[in-house]
Amino acid sequence: MDSFDRYKDLNVRQITTNDLKRKYSVTADVLSYRRCPRLYASQSIRSFAPAQPSQRYVGSMIHQVLDRAHLQYSGRISNATANQIPNDDQIRIYFNEVDSALRAHGIRPFNPELGEYVLKLLQRFNRIEGKDLYPRVKDTEHKLQSDRGRYILHGVVDVLVSPTGSDSRDVEIWDYKGTKRPIETTGFGKKILEDYKFQMLVYSSLFKMRNGYYPSKGVIYFLGELRGQTITSRPSSAVLEVPLDDAEMNKALQSFDNTVSQIETSKDTNNWPPPSNGAETAGRETCDACDLRTSCPKERNKYHHRIPGSK
Ligand code: SF4
Repeated sequence: MDSFDRYKDLNVRQITTNDLKRKYSVTADVLSYRRCPRLYASQSIRSFAPAQPSQRYVGSMIHQVLDRAHLQYSGRISNATANQIPNDDQIRIYFNEVDSALRAHGIRPFNPELGEYVLKLLQRFNRIEGKDLYPRVKDTEHKLQSDRGRYILHGVVDVLVSPTGSDSRDVEIWDYKGTKRPIETTGFGKKILEDYKFQMLVYSSLFKMRNGYYPSKGVIYFLGELRGQTITSRPSSAVLEVPLDDAEMNKALQSFDNTVSQIETSKDTNNWPPPSNGAETAGRETCDACDLRTSCPKERNKYHHRIPGSK
C-alpha cells in the first residue's frame, strides 16, 4: 500500500482567519500613509528601497550618533568614559561608525556635503546641549507598545529626560528631528507641526500605559536650527514644547485608530491613491525624492524622465 493512501481520507479544515496582529507605528505607518498612501505602499507594503534615501540617512544618523553620545556619558560604552561629554573628535568617530553601517544597508547621502553638514549639526548639538542634557537622560530609545485589539501600536521615544536631574519619576519625552523647524504660517509647515504634536501625544499615551503615569511634557528638538557656523547657544526656534492634555491624547489615539482602518481598507482593496492635492499634502521635498513621481497621477506633469547628463 502506498503510504499516501493511508491519509487520503484525512480532512484538514482550512484555516480562514489570521489571528496575527500587525504592528503599526506612528511615524513609519500612520504619518507616512497620511502624507502619501501611494509612496507608503511602495516602500512599506511592497518593500521597494528608495533610490534617494537621503531623508532616511539624516534621520538615522542623528538618532544613532546621539544614542552613542548618551551611552558614552552613562558609562554603558565603557566605564572609563562615564560622565564624560564626547568631544568633536569622538562625535566624528561615532559618525563614521554609523555612516559605514548605513552605507552597508544602501542608505547614503546624495552627496558628501550632506554628510559633513549632518556631522557639524551633531557636533554643535553635543557642544551646546551635552553639559546640561546628558546628566538628565534617564533612558534612550525607550520602546513603547500597546495592544489595541485589532493591531499593536508601537513607537520609540528618542530620550527620556528628567527635568531636574533628580531621581523623581517626573519625566519629559524628547524627540530629535534632523530638519529645520517647519514654518507655521505655511499650510504645509502647519500640517507637519500638527503631525509632530500628534506623534508626541500618542507616545505620551503609550508611556502612561507602560509606566502608569504621564510624562510632564513632550519636547521636539530641531537640529536643523543649529546650522550656521556662528551658533554657540540654543536658538529658541530649536525647541518645540508640546503640552500633554488628557483629552488631546485620547483624540490622538482615536485618530490613530481611524488611519489604521484606512490602511487596512487600502490593503483589502489594493487601492493606494496619492493625496488629492499631491505635493501640498505629501510635501514638495518628498515628491522630489519620490521614485514614483514621473508616473504619479497628481504630480507627473512637474517631473520628466531625462537622459543622465542632459538638462
Ligand atoms: S510624487 Fe508625491 S504625491 Fe505622487 S506618489 Fe510620489 S510622494 Fe506621492
